[in-house]
Amino acid sequence: MIPRFPLINLSIDAELYRKNSSEWFNSLNNLPEDTLLFIISKNYAHFTDLHSKTHLQLVPVYSALRDGSNFSRNTDLAQINQSGNLISPYYCPNNPKVVSLIKNDFESLHEASPIAGILLDSLEIPFQPPIIGCFCAYCSTLAEEKGINLSQISHEITRKMKNGVNWNWVTKNYPEWLQFRVDSISNLAGKLMITIRKLEPNIFLGMTVPFSYTPEMFGHDYFFLSLYLDLLNFSVNENILGSKKKLLKQIRAVAKKFIGEYRIFLQMKVPHELNVSEIKMGINTLKKNSFDGLIFHVSTLNELKKIIKIGVLG
Ligand SMILES: [Zn+2]
Repeated sequence: MIPRFPLINLSIDAELYRKNSSEWFNSLNNLPEDTLLFIISKNYAHFTDLHSKTHLQLVPVYSALRDGSNFSRNTDLAQINQSGNLISPYYCPNNPKVVSLIKNDFESLHEASPIAGILLDSLEIPFQPPIIGCFCAYCSTLAEEKGINLSQISHEITRKMKNGVNWNWVTKNYPEWLQFRVDSISNLAGKLMITIRKLEPNIFLGMTVPFSYTPEMFGHDYFFLSLYLDLLNFSVNENILGSKKKLLKQIRAVAKKFIGEYRIFLQMKVPHELNVSEIKMGINTLKKNSFDGLIFHVSTLNELKKIIKIGVLG
């Protein structure tokens, strides 16, 4: 059973609060106790610190496939590109060592301090030529079982790459490979869900996805991700609380097709152009559209204070 989440939640980069921590803690403690605080940090000590000084529900934001974490990492986890080279910033979703590594990190996070959930980030295979996907031995074997010849595809793509590979060309020529990329991400999400349930049934597992009209470009299938995970968090760059309601409707239209139990969040920056009552009006629209919550990414104390006004008065 997935819990009901508060409507207004926050995301912060842990490095920020540390510069002025007592003021941040004072402000954070003005928020309702069940508010989820999503924390971008590579350091377990931040979670312990935030747990001892705030009453909020902590949720580490965990970078799943992108390097840059100081959780122990190895190059033998990296994606291999079409020319056989390492794609250094990304890990392969089909590499079994990746699952064990993430499992270990989940365990460490769970032990470090009480957490309400974990929010996965960068669980994706981006299509950003020349980075387009993984052609490692694990992927090749798995693809072969489905009748997909990855080495042939990598040859043709490398040849084509000289003149630029575009999305339409790939969609037309290699739909089965694009499906393979998407399935790789969905399957990993499913495995991680099982991992977290075994570890601690009360910790929810969510995932942030950049909302896109072509989610397969990231290896995403929103339907399966919502089916496997507790929470799908669509991050948007536009101010959807203001006049740009079109995007909101489009996300809603996608989410209406989901089945089973799931929660849908939206994530955005604190809108500077709107005042507190305008933001509250926008949030009411979200509620009417049956979104389960909103995550405001807060970068400054002033932004935090603005959210507190909404949270406390709301
Ligand atoms: Zn691979």
